[in-house]
Amino acid sequence: MKDTDLRRRCETRLNVFILLGRCQKTDRCFGVRFEEGASDEWIADWAFALTEGVAGRERYGQKNVNGNFSFSLEYPGCPHCENMGTFACSCGKVSCLDARQQNVRCPWCRSKGTVDPESTVNQLGVGTDV
Ligand SMILES: [Zn+2]
Ligand SMILES: [Zn+2]
Repeated sequence: MKDTDLRRRCETRLNVFILLGRCQKTDRCFGVRFEEGASDEWIADWAFALTEGVAGRERYGQKNVNGNFSFSLEYPGCPHCENMGTFACSCGKVSCLDARQQNVRCPWCRSKGTVDPESTVNQLGVGTDV
């Protein structure tokens, strides 16, 4: 899908935002599209590869959204390595995550950590243009 198609798709839906993530395995960027469900609930239903340049130009990752985040059954997983999960590091950035994985290395800040299956994400940094 081209950039312009993506932008049009976002503009026609008000309650949509794109989350910027980075692949743990390949260090490459990707976008995750979230749609608003019930109040304060955001559902990820799509992910796509992004180049670093596009991510910077679109200013993904410069605003915070609060709420509950979950994944639709349609969510295709990381576009680079097909990991189905995501991990939000304490640095505020998000990366892809293998569901069976217990040790993570944040591809943004390089810190290592363990996945707490009980933890929930309630704030994510998202783009300013959606
Ligand atoms: Zn990945
Ligand atoms: Zn980090």
